[in-house]
Amino acid sequence: MQRNIFEDAISRLDTAFADANVEAEVLEQLKHPEQILEVAVPVRMDNGALRVFTGFRVRHDDSLGPTKGGIRFHPNVTREEVMALALWMTLKCALVGIPYGGAKGGIKVNPKDLSKLELERLSRSYIQRVADAIGPQTDIPAPDVYTNAMIMGWMMDEYSSIVRRRTPGVITGKPIPLGGSLGRDDATGRGAYYCIKELEKKYNWQPSNIKVAVQGFGNAGQHVAGLLHQDGYKIVAISDSQGGIFHESGFDVPSIVKMKNETRRVQAVYCDGSVCEAVDSEVISNEQLLELPVDILIPAALEDQINASNAERIKAPYIVEVANGPIVSNADSILHKKNTFIIPDILANAGGVIVSYFEWVQNNIGLYWTESEVHQKLKQIITAAFHKVLDIADERKLDMRAAANVHALNNLQTAIKARGTQEYFNMG
Ligand code: NAD
Repeated sequence: MQRNIFEDAISRLDTAFADANVEAEVLEQLKHPEQILEVAVPVRMDNGALRVFTGFRVRHDDSLGPTKGGIRFHPNVTREEVMALALWMTLKCALVGIPYGGAKGGIKVNPKDLSKLELERLSRSYIQRVADAIGPQTDIPAPDVYTNAMIMGWMMDEYSSIVRRRTPGVITGKPIPLGGSLGRDDATGRGAYYCIKELEKKYNWQPSNIKVAVQGFGNAGQHVAGLLHQDGYKIVAISDSQGGIFHESGFDVPSIVKMKNETRRVQAVYCDGSVCEAVDSEVISNEQLLELPVDILIPAALEDQINASNAERIKAPYIVEVANGPIVSNADSILHKKNTFIIPDILANAGGVIVSYFEWVQNNIGLYWTESEVHQKLKQIITAAFHKVLDIADERKLDMRAAANVHALNNLQTAIKARGTQEYFNMG
């Protein structure tokens, strides 16, 4: 039977509940997403035919503020996946202390099969169908897997036409001229990078001795790899959906980014200006990448990459979950026994939603910040969250995931309790 990813996420929440000192009704509330919308998304294709795609928008919990979460275009999108991703957004925003609840959206589609015009029509059609559920004070989408700034721009335009006023605050991750924020593009990778820099300080790492493998080379993967490479870390393996490359002494990440952007493939090259030459490398599969003897493994693609069937073979002592949900709960105890240090997704990839929040604030006040202001504010928030989680983990003898969940649940409890829980209503 296929694993239900939402149930898996709830089982982790149950574990966190046992560790956290929160009331049962906090957990009860979080087990049930507030709103689950399934929509039919009609698109007139370039050949004149009509195709109808299935889309979702799930608003999980708005105790702490308007809900927030990306929109994914992927053939494997399911209602349960979107529900799990929305729950993780609730926990993530609570963990880093930004005034949002969690949401997520998705369309079951392979965007690589669509022309650019079909993609634009799909994006606009989706917004027509979910327009009543979203809004700058209600629910604010953003990019996720296989969606990007241009798509966010189309969606903002479409929403603005529907409500008949320009509404940049309805969506984040927009192009800069349409109200995007400087520093949003690399925010997810940069947030993970700031967390790794804290580990570097804690363990006195020499970056040139640290080997890193990155699975997934899109927005998040490219930026975390690029920033680490700049600091001298050895990025020895990189992959995308087609497979990966490995070289013991590390790759020149900017050259690989350039080739990936030009050819849509990860290739082992070194570029001097516009001239790129092939460099030595081994072709590896995504499964092999995960099992390499590296120091840091960074899954930055999709869920369910490390599970009970391969966890035993994972050699990296540090895993930084840049993707959402790359480790299934049945792998937790195996990795725990191996003493693997995991920076959990709700912390490692929170940079994206933190800078999305900055974008929304800037849209609301109409005043725009410099890139270095954005970097500095991001660093401050994510570094503080990292240390908070580390402290809880040390004090309570928990792993980082459990500590992150405990902190998120405690923050959510403050808002849920402020509206009254059983204890209050029983007072008589
Ligand atoms: P993206 O679309 O920019 O890139 C996805 C990358 O993953 C591509 O390189 C693709 O080829 C690769 N990929 C797809 N299937 C793969 C597979 N089976 N094995 C290996 N690689 C595969 O997406 P992104 O925005 O970088 O998102 C990646 C992950 O980061 C997702 O889990 C997403 O939810 C998470 N995330 C993204 C953001 C953000 O701001 N973009 C924020 C938080 C979390």
